[in-house]
Amino acid sequence: MERYIIGMDLGGTNIKAGLFTKNFVRVAENRAHTREKEGPEAVLQCMLRTARQLMEDAGVEQEEIGCMGIGVPGLLDRKAGISVFSPNLTGWENVPVARWFEEHLSIPVFIDNDVRMNLYGEWYFGAGKNKQNVVLLTLGTGLGAGVVMDGHVLYGATGSAGEIGHMNMYRTGRPCKCGSSGCLGRYVSALGLLRTVREKIEGGQPSVLSDWTQRDLKQITAKMVSEAFDLGDPVARNALYETGELLGYGLVNVINLYNPEIIIVGGGMAAAGERLLARTREIVKKHALELSQHACEIVTAFLGDGAGILGAAVFAWKAASRQEEKSEKERWQPSFFC
Ligand SMILES: [Zn+2]
Repeated sequence: MERYIIGMDLGGTNIKAGLFTKNFVRVAENRAHTREKEGPEAVLQCMLRTARQLMEDAGVEQEEIGCMGIGVPGLLDRKAGISVFSPNLTGWENVPVARWFEEHLSIPVFIDNDVRMNLYGEWYFGAGKNKQNVVLLTLGTGLGAGVVMDGHVLYGATGSAGEIGHMNMYRTGRPCKCGSSGCLGRYVSALGLLRTVREKIEGGQPSVLSDWTQRDLKQITAKMVSEAFDLGDPVARNALYETGELLGYGLVNVINLYNPEIIIVGGGMAAAGERLLARTREIVKKHALELSQHACEIVTAFLGDGAGILGAAVFAWKAASRQEEKSEKERWQPSFFC
C-alpha cells in the first residue's frame, strides 16, 4: 500500500504529471493543455483528470498513492497550500490547491513554487546531485531561480529568497512586472533576448532573422537566434554575447553572495549552451571573488523539462515523511507534557 507518489507541474500552457515509485522511478507520465482561460475550477478538474489518467495508465489504484506534490507558478502560501496569485492563469487568486486535491484524492498534497520543484529535481537526481550548495536558474519566458545553501533550500520571510531574476542591473532600464525596472530577467530570458534582437534589427542592423520572418519580428524564437548565431549572423552573435555578459555580471553577484559549488542553467534557453555561456564564464572569471569562483562550476541542467515533476514528487515525499514523523512524535509524547 501507498507505494507511489504523483509529481505535477502546473504551467500556463501545459500540465505535466508523473507517477513515481518510492525510489523515484517513473512508471507513467502524462501531459494536458492547461485550459487556463476557463478559470480555476476547470484547471483543477483538468489536473485531476491528468492524475487519474496516470493511475489508469500504470494500473495503479488510488489507495496505492502515498502523496502528491504540485509545482505552481507565482505567489504561494506554501504552508496553507494556497496559490495566492499566478499572472499566467486567468482569474487565479487564492486557490486552495492542496485542500481541493486532498478532498478529491484523499491523500496528503503539498505545493511549492514551480522553479523550486525544478531545483529539488536537479538537486536530488540531476546536475546538483550530492552537492550541498546549489543555485538553479531557469531561463524561460522569464528568469526563475532557487537556492540550496548548506544542504537547505532557501525560502526567506515571504518565500522570495533567491529571486535572482529581479536583481537590479540598471538604475533605469526595461520595466519589469515586479514594478521596478532594469531587472536581470528582463534581459536574460527568452523574452529578454528576443527584445534585444528586435531592438537591434529595428535600429537598422541587417539580420537573416528579419528575412526568415518576412520582417514580422514577433515571430522570432530563441531557437532561431541560436540557428542564426551558428550561421555567423552579427545580430544573433551580438545579442547572445550581450545577454551572456549580463548573465555573467548577475552570476558574479550570485557567486559572491551564496558561494555555490554549482550553478545549473536550465529552462528552454539553456539550449543555447556555450553560445550564451562562453561570455558568461569570461565575466565570472574576471570579476567574481577568486576563491568562490574556483569552487563553482557553471553547467546546463541534466534533466530537461522532466525536472519539475520529479522534483515535485521528491518534495511531496519529504514533506509527507516530516508530517508522519511529527505525528509519530505526538503519539509518543508522554502525558505529563500535555
Ligand atoms: Zn523585476
